[in-house]
Amino acid sequence: MKILFLAAEAEPFVKIGGLADVAGSLPLALRALPAQTAAGVPLDVRLVLPLHQSVRVDTATLRLVAEFSVWRDGFSVPVKVFETSLDGMPVYFISGAPISSTPTVYSPDPAQDREKYAFFSIAALELTHHLGWEPDIIHANDWHTSFALYAVQSRQIVRPSQHPRTVLTVHNLAYLGGDSSDVLSAYGLMPFSDHSLPKWAQSQPLPLGLWSANAIVPVSPTYAREILTPDFGCGLDLYLKTRVKSLTGILNGLDVNFWDPARDKTLAACFDAGQLPARLVNKTALQKTLVLKQDGNVPLLVMVGRVDYQKGLDIAFESLRRLVGQNWQFVILGSGDPALEETARSLQSEFPERVRAVIRYDSDLSHLLYGGADMFLMPSRYEPCGLAQMIAMRYGCVPVVHSTGGLKDTVQEGKTGFLFQDSDPVSMEAALVRALALFAEPDQWQKFQRNDMQEDFSWPRSAGQYASIYSSLLSES
Ligand code: ADP
Repeated sequence: MKILFLAAEAEPFVKIGGLADVAGSLPLALRALPAQTAAGVPLDVRLVLPLHQSVRVDTATLRLVAEFSVWRDGFSVPVKVFETSLDGMPVYFISGAPISSTPTVYSPDPAQDREKYAFFSIAALELTHHLGWEPDIIHANDWHTSFALYAVQSRQIVRPSQHPRTVLTVHNLAYLGGDSSDVLSAYGLMPFSDHSLPKWAQSQPLPLGLWSANAIVPVSPTYAREILTPDFGCGLDLYLKTRVKSLTGILNGLDVNFWDPARDKTLAACFDAGQLPARLVNKTALQKTLVLKQDGNVPLLVMVGRVDYQKGLDIAFESLRRLVGQNWQFVILGSGDPALEETARSLQSEFPERVRAVIRYDSDLSHLLYGGADMFLMPSRYEPCGLAQMIAMRYGCVPVVHSTGGLKDTVQEGKTGFLFQDSDPVSMEAALVRALALFAEPDQWQKFQRNDMQEDFSWPRSAGQYASIYSSLLSES
């Protein structure tokens, strides 16, 4: 079974957020499935990525495998495709002016991104003809690659001989892509002519991708239910209800070989569930690096993630202010919205003795935070799946999270972490009070840490669910 897997970012080549973790590990997990669980046949999954300026790849390993043009408004735009290999999987990098002309993976100018990802999606489909490798399944992720599904479904692109079936994984429904009428028309895609989608959604790539996809996969079972409600449906809940038979929530897995505290070279001390005291070495290293008081008894609370309204930083900051009478230290590592970044810096100015706002992307520091901090805070207003809490749990950093989406599906109150029901500081404060009380009882706390570290977040189960979807789509066609 041939699967073309399209994504805007993927580890180890380029990473902004959780999409990169998934796109770098799910395709490999699918290829590794034993044939009997993978629809009875091996899965020939191949990954296609844009050759962003920031892609980290040894150019000596890149091989030019195709050179062609795509049509844009009557002009031809040259495309070059380079191939490399990731653990034996072919990975194709698409290059061309709309991709190389933007310095970042996601541009601050949404129009530039629509141009880039429409070009990427169309070129990726075209590539399959040049390779003589016609996929049975086209698997897109989020709005960026939804253009490809619309092109296939509306049959406006020269089609492979066998009409492929399509899957769209929804990592975040809120990013619809914006009005793309101009790029759709520039790349020869006809305007949407059905009444099933609301009018305002008919020119936006994610809704078009949802409409086109034979299977829609939100990244956790709870999120799959939440998006059918007005609160989480981003205006598409009524449409999604009509597609409920095609909708399956599948929890993301984690690359447990990469995220492994027993072998993680970026840690000051490696450890497993039987060596929890070794975590103190990492905690001390963090306190030293960040110029915080070096004291193992002070609970160290952390957040790692994009600085975005979604992530509820304001809720966390306010709940910490309410807990000023308690002993804690807090570190936030992240970057994103400049106004919210400023609120993080202000919190540090307010509590210079115990808060550090590290406003940047820093992979090594993130590992040390997972491996050394005591509690991981994730007060996200909504969280489709969330990988950070799973990584934290694998590293024995106990999660305190809002009970929503994938957070609800992965954290268990009273066993692996602390959940709060309402997206507000009072509710979060109550969860933190419970967590801080437990932290004061080391035996109980270590029990939680061991429970966390024993959770199985590896890919095989979820990859198997994707394989079942692929095979049922092919047996329907
Ligand atoms: P999202 O996909 O919404 O960004 P996830 O929790 O699913 O959130 O995934 C976030 C991933 O990005 C995690 O692997 C996290 O460690 C990483 N990450 C986010 N921000 C940073 C940062 N500033 N420095 C290092 N890693 C980060």
